[in-house]
Amino acid sequence: MNNRLWIAIISLCVFVVCEIMLIRFVATDRERQVENKRYLALEQLSTIRARLEGLLQTNLVAIRQLHTELSLEPKISEERFAALTENLMSQNLHIRHLAIAYDYRIRLIYPLEGNESALGFDYRTRPDQLRTLHEAISSRSITLNGPVALAQGGEALIARVPVFDKDTQELVALISQVIDHYNLFNDSGLHSHPELSISLRGIDGTGEQGELITGDYGIWDANPVTLTVSLPRGEWALAAIPISGSWAPTAYANSLYFIFGTILAFLFSVLLYLVLRNQQRLRQAFGLISNQARFDNLTGIANRHFFEEQLTAYISACERRDEKFALLFIDLDHFKEVNDALGHSAGDDLLKLVTGRLQASLRRDDIIARLGGDEFVVVLKNLSEPFHAQLQAQKLLKHIREPMNLYANEVAIDASIGIALFPSDGDNFAELLKAADLAMYAAKDAGRGTSEFFNNDLREQATSNLHMHQAILQGIRNREFLVHYQPVINSKDGSLHSIEALARWNHPSRGLLLPKDFIAIAEKSGAIRDLGNFVLNQVCSDIAELHAAGITGRVAINFSSHQFYDKVAMDQWFQIMQQHQVDPSCFTFEITESMLLPDRERQRDLLLEINDRGVTLAIDDFGTGYSSASYLRHFPICLLKIDRTFVAGVPDDPHQNALLSALIHMARALNIDVVIEGVETVSQVNFLNMQTANLIQGFYFAKPMPLASLIERYGPSVKEKEPRAFNERRKNPT
Ligand code: C2E
Ligand code: MG
Ligand code: MG
Repeated sequence: MNNRLWIAIISLCVFVVCEIMLIRFVATDRERQVENKRYLALEQLSTIRARLEGLLQTNLVAIRQLHTELSLEPKISEERFAALTENLMSQNLHIRHLAIAYDYRIRLIYPLEGNESALGFDYRTRPDQLRTLHEAISSRSITLNGPVALAQGGEALIARVPVFDKDTQELVALISQVIDHYNLFNDSGLHSHPELSISLRGIDGTGEQGELITGDYGIWDANPVTLTVSLPRGEWALAAIPISGSWAPTAYANSLYFIFGTILAFLFSVLLYLVLRNQQRLRQAFGLISNQARFDNLTGIANRHFFEEQLTAYISACERRDEKFALLFIDLDHFKEVNDALGHSAGDDLLKLVTGRLQASLRRDDIIARLGGDEFVVVLKNLSEPFHAQLQAQKLLKHIREPMNLYANEVAIDASIGIALFPSDGDNFAELLKAADLAMYAAKDAGRGTSEFFNNDLREQATSNLHMHQAILQGIRNREFLVHYQPVINSKDGSLHSIEALARWNHPSRGLLLPKDFIAIAEKSGAIRDLGNFVLNQVCSDIAELHAAGITGRVAINFSSHQFYDKVAMDQWFQIMQQHQVDPSCFTFEITESMLLPDRERQRDLLLEINDRGVTLAIDDFGTGYSSASYLRHFPICLLKIDRTFVAGVPDDPHQNALLSALIHMARALNIDVVIEGVETVSQVNFLNMQTANLIQGFYFAKPMPLASLIERYGPSVKEKEPRAFNERRKNPT
């Protein structure tokens, strides 16, 4: 996914999050508004309730005063009653009339006008009235009933109170006060509230469960705020809802919020998108600038400036880790002519192609850069051997040299490479570059298309090494190499124990060369692998002849550390044996002590595998390395070959004698067979016989010899003569 799409997705997500937050905000704000409205409504309702309770109490003052009067004197004259009630009713209250009943019949009523029909009314004729009357009697206090239908028509609230004889406590009278509830409620503000619809229920003081007194039943089902109104006995319940019927704020207000919020969220997301886009463009621009500042535009590899940075950092690391490296200065030969002949774009293509070839021939962590024009530099990291830099330079030259196709022209270009080594040729960027540059000019002077070291000695050595390396490879191809065999003799009976294959080079001009003339350089240059494979191949094909001649002892083959510990190489050896149909049990592989030291676990696994496949393992030149008995126990070693330097002074030098017998005892203690190398004299043989070290390889018995000589000497035809031959050799060594 490209960055632009990512930014769009991020902005969209931010928009969605803003929307979710907005919805939540609108919802909580709505709840908050509802709560607020209910709270305000409750406040207003409690004001109404206070007014209603106040007006009721004020109205009931009349009945209370009359009750006090009658309690003192139950029989009251009509005039006194009229005078009293007139006074009580004059106070602009809601009293419609007051009445006194004796023996459940209304006897006195004021004002009489309009209420004549009630005079003489017997409560016992109206069971509903009688029931409330009895409640008042049994409670002995004021009760408030209604609204009830009056005998004289209409509806009103009726307050009642019984009067008892203070001595006998018998009911003597009943006082009723009829209150105009409609106006009472009006004056309390129940009917005309500007914001609230109010309802009151609880006829006869039955509270919230009672019948509706005024207002609408629907209010009670619309989640109203409620309050109770205290009556002398029982209570009423007040309920209120907004006139609109709902507590929720208008949808219009909510949508406004929402629309406004959405517009803001949208604008914010667009702004975010633009800011991020801008930032990304800036980052890309900075990236491009810093890329251009560090990398070469044409080839994409590091430029001079970045190369200096990288190399300076690497020099510090090498100083810390005590590592060596080589700096290769590569200059293309006759590049200008290609440019002039084929044009600049062809020249550019050529530089790109060369870069690709250089990159392909280097390890991933080597450094490569273009200094400008047709000059390249390469750093070969962690160099173990200066000669390897020379080999790598040759490899690069070989790749550069391969013809390339440029605008339908086949072009082959050469290069000159100068090699400077860290730390010997310089310990900083400038010095090393100068040295490599000078070396490059030396390569140009030497005829171009070649590589030269900055250091003179190295230059000479490298030239001869390189020649030797190429000569070895050529020699293998030309079948100039051969194998000689040296027997290992059991001095007890003179029998042949085994033989060692030793490489020889029949050099066309220098004659027969011994390993000391070519093994070291073959190891350095890597040609040892090819040479080793040649020896193994040769031995495999000779084994058939040896077996045919009755020589069946194992053949020892030498391996150097550069050949070993490579699983691919190992598989190749067994493949070679298989190709020749030779069993691995015909071989002993000789390795040196030093090869057992690093990375013990991995080596152990490899050696175990070799051993498991049937090849026995011997330690060659034993005693010249670490000679630590402890590590030997960890490896599957069957044979120790004690180096000839330990035999040299024997038996005349007592120190050498002691050393040699100590080594023999060590091998014996480890239960490993021991072969003594370099035995040249009869006194040495005698000394070894005394030590019962009978396996002997040395010129005393035989020098390394060609296969034919070996067969002639140790084949079946001479077998019968063996004891005699052995005795003869003891007197007259070869
Ligand atoms: P090495 O494996 O210790 O082989 C024994 C060397 O001692 C041989 O030398 C042999 O000629 C020499 N020698 C044996 N008996 C006597 C003696 O009584 N007196 C004296 N002065 N020398 C004796 P050579 O053939 O010159 O080989 C030298 C070394 O080169 C070998 O030492 C081995 O390490 C190495 N080498 C030989 N062939 C190969 C090979 O095919 N591959 C590898 N990697 N190394 C090889
Ligand atoms: Mg050997
Ligand atoms: Mg040896």
